[in-house]
Amino acid sequence: MQGKHYINGEWSTAGEGVIDVMNPATGEKVGTVPNGGEDEATKAVEAAAAAFPEWSKTTAYHRAGLLMKWHDLLLENKQEVAEIMTREMGKPLAEAIGEIEYSAAFISWYAEEGKRVYGRTVPASKDGKRIQVIKQPVGVVASITPWNFPAAMMARKMAPALAAGCTFVAKPAKLTPLTAVRIYELAEEAGFPKGVINLVTGSAGKIGKVFTSHPSVRKLTFTGSTEIGKELMKQSSETMLNLSLELGGHAPIIVLDDANIEEAVKGVMASKFRNAGQTCVCGNRIYVQESIVEKFSQKLQQAAGALKVGNGLDEGVEIGPLVDKDGYEKVVNHVKDAVDKGAKVLVGGNGRAENDSYFYNPTVLLNANSDMLVMNEETFGPVAPIMSFKTDEEAVHLANDTRFGLAAYFFTDSMTRGTYIAENLDYGIVGWNDGLPSAAQAPFGGMKESGIGREGGMEGLEAFLETKYLSIQL
Ligand code: ADP
Repeated sequence: MQGKHYINGEWSTAGEGVIDVMNPATGEKVGTVPNGGEDEATKAVEAAAAAFPEWSKTTAYHRAGLLMKWHDLLLENKQEVAEIMTREMGKPLAEAIGEIEYSAAFISWYAEEGKRVYGRTVPASKDGKRIQVIKQPVGVVASITPWNFPAAMMARKMAPALAAGCTFVAKPAKLTPLTAVRIYELAEEAGFPKGVINLVTGSAGKIGKVFTSHPSVRKLTFTGSTEIGKELMKQSSETMLNLSLELGGHAPIIVLDDANIEEAVKGVMASKFRNAGQTCVCGNRIYVQESIVEKFSQKLQQAAGALKVGNGLDEGVEIGPLVDKDGYEKVVNHVKDAVDKGAKVLVGGNGRAENDSYFYNPTVLLNANSDMLVMNEETFGPVAPIMSFKTDEEAVHLANDTRFGLAAYFFTDSMTRGTYIAENLDYGIVGWNDGLPSAAQAPFGGMKESGIGREGGMEGLEAFLETKYLSIQL
């Protein structure tokens, strides 16, 4: 597949050569995209700026109609788009199909929610005055997204931005741009006017610079590492860019002694091993109450050991390859560090790196402690370290002892204990007996160094709106 930029309604291969897109399961080339830079990003931003006045004045009903056409096309073609995703990214095909459905859910939800951008009237304190608050689209939106969810991370920015009346410029991740290209082809088919949606592939640094310095860009929405998020925030101070940042996490999972162990293991499996552990909301550290550690870890070991590892296109595969060599080496390093510091490998603990493909076996570690890398840094791999705790207060303290605050999970059937834990966790997303809390209608996002702003739900639309108030003297 030869991907292209989509700028002002035209497909283009401009840039300094091409970037090869590789299949992490086989090491084979899947296709290419142009290696765009400042010129292409600038043209895309200018096209979006030119299209904004007209697009922003269309009705939300009109925009919803286009969004729903795009939604339907995406679902009609979900198998094909999912196969592209599995080829360039590695996740099992069933998960890729699930991601396309999840992306479509954002599009339909925001098509509807765009019709509910309400203002308000505020009583004035003087006779003859009226105060009205109105909401307007923020302007040109630039988006930078990562490789782990090549469709969903873009859709959950693009759908609310377009529904709000903004125009859009996307830069997909270098490793996984082809899914984005195919989604843009479907958006073109849906009939968005030229300039309203634009896509630029290529150099992150060069394109990112244009996004943070061009005066026409009014909003930057980014999903990726905390490190790059901080860099973009610094760069964005020049133009006082409106920012949404969805950054790294280090999710704790707490299993209390009254939990239904079967259900807790199911929840941990879903949270930990989805996408081979390569998500920012994956459980990273599992705290299990002392009296049930043995039973819980045995069951988790069995479940993890039963997962089928392989090429995501093959039938029944549940764990695909890690996305690249760096990702693989990080996992190897985390496990080695944990073992050196006293962890016991219950299952896994090894992988297979050959022909530019990197598979790591689902791993469960017992006797983890707070000094281990795996308990402090995002592993981004299928590794589940278990550490025991005594009291609920201790569990909450351990869970909060991090600079991240994206997702946390806990398992208990006690309303009282659960409420205490839920209210004291410093996290934007909390799953209570639930390993898969994400949903289009819920506000996803983090506290602390996990970011700024929310995506999904009403908050995800608000992110693309400016508030203006009118003070009227009659
Ligand atoms: P991940 O590990 O999830 O890829 P990164 O933060 O490295 O996280 O990358 C997320 C996205 O940010 C990718 O699209 C990447 O190309 C982009 N990116 C990386 N460095 C920069 C930068 N300096 N400026 C703008 N975007 C960047």
